[in-house]
Amino acid sequence: MPLSEVTVFPRPIADAVDELAQSRSEELLAQIAETSSALEGRVVWHVNTTARGGGVAEMLNSLVGYARGAGIDSRWRVIGGDPRFFEITKRIHNRLHGSAGDGGALCDEARADYESTLAFSGHALRELVSPGDIVVLHDPQTAGLAPLLAGTGAHLVWRCHIGLDEPNAIAEETWSFLRPYVDAADELIFSRPEHVWTGIDAARVRIVPPAIDHRSSKNHWLAPESVDAILRVAEILPAGGADLGNPAFARQSGEAAEVGRRAEMLGIARLDPDLPIVCQVSRWDRLKDPVGVLHGFAGHVLPSHESQLVLAGPSVSAVADDPEQAEVLNELMSSLASLSATVRDRVAIACLPMEDIEENAAIVNALQRRSDVVVQKSLAEGFGLTVSEAMWKGTPVVASGVGGIQDQIEHFLSGMLVDEPTDHATFGEHISLLLREPEFADVIGDGGRERVREEFLVARHLHQDVELYDDLLASEWDDMPFRASA
Ligand code: UDP
Repeated sequence: MPLSEVTVFPRPIADAVDELAQSRSEELLAQIAETSSALEGRVVWHVNTTARGGGVAEMLNSLVGYARGAGIDSRWRVIGGDPRFFEITKRIHNRLHGSAGDGGALCDEARADYESTLAFSGHALRELVSPGDIVVLHDPQTAGLAPLLAGTGAHLVWRCHIGLDEPNAIAEETWSFLRPYVDAADELIFSRPEHVWTGIDAARVRIVPPAIDHRSSKNHWLAPESVDAILRVAEILPAGGADLGNPAFARQSGEAAEVGRRAEMLGIARLDPDLPIVCQVSRWDRLKDPVGVLHGFAGHVLPSHESQLVLAGPSVSAVADDPEQAEVLNELMSSLASLSATVRDRVAIACLPMEDIEENAAIVNALQRRSDVVVQKSLAEGFGLTVSEAMWKGTPVVASGVGGIQDQIEHFLSGMLVDEPTDHATFGEHISLLLREPEFADVIGDGGRERVREEFLVARHLHQDVELYDDLLASEWDDMPFRASA
């Protein structure tokens, strides 16, 4: 399938702004309404490679839903590709993070394969897009569509969710590979100023840090009883008697639902409900360093603090656009098998069911709430949605001070940063401190929640979206012939 549609139901726009002060929320709603009427008759298209799993899909679900709720005709399409396409795009992804990935080259042959897959999606998109529409292409997988859409009369935006604070030769070479495509876009969006490629025209660049949706099934408040019930039904916590409790969560539609599927537990069969929980939730990706989390925990937390670790991620069969996940999970399993029985008795690997994406979100929600410390030990990160998600729940976070995470967490105020992501000792010390000092952990947890409320909720993102749309519409006036000659 060159192109498939992701159905997103409209969400009440008032929900998106309900954490703002009243005057600010009224002002923003008025601005969104004005932009919505200016966009009448036009479509805002979002294009990426997956409808589920990972930060981009997570955000599109909310942003497209709220835009639709505000009367903007926002639509989401996912492009398809063969295994070779995803092998190349994963290589590009790793290389933009400065890592050689599978070691393969971005040679002419890779370029030809990348372009030939995109030619199909590009053709299908051209049929859909009309002059004056806005097309937002997400990440390097879709960058090659920009030149194919030039000439449709649509405004083209390319958004790069990944980046490196100090680019190396691998990253720079990858920029050169992508540059011809990206040059066809009118606007370029990066998550932080440090991630903007050198040599790019600053006038075309805007910075939009990702945000989380506090009303989604992932982040919505859950009663403590539901948290435990969800984790029991998912078989992450032991059943503890015949009555599992009520594993209820609210769907984005507002409909009440219950978690019914179980996680596949590798490592220990269940977490111990009486021991503190340290948790990382992420895709099975080497840049998330799950093996490093394991070693940091085993070497620098467990010896001084009786606790347990859970590494949670998607069930690997469910992720279409990433060929490396099964491999990374296997590496993690082998690493765990090589450790002592004392460590193995304290580590769970939870592959979460992905059939129902909102059920998956509810399980992640419960895990982030039930954990005593959430970690994100990424080696590189454009922005860590999991970091904001845990902070919003008041759970203290220990994370690598890389990429956007440095903007999300203020060290010792709203979380704990580890400057050097491979520094397992400091990573372990921060976790141990939070486990040892619950009052300090509460202060950090509260600081995290406030930080997210101020900077990283969806209302701020929607504001930046409407500013982008306003600017693109205004640019049409600049392009009018009488203006050019004036
Ligand atoms: N996630 C999820 N289920 C999983 C693993 C991850 O819902 O089993 C979500 C996670 O909660 C977050 C997103 O995927 O919303 C990951 O975004 P992040 O920015 O942390 O990393 P990315 O995957 O975009 O590199």
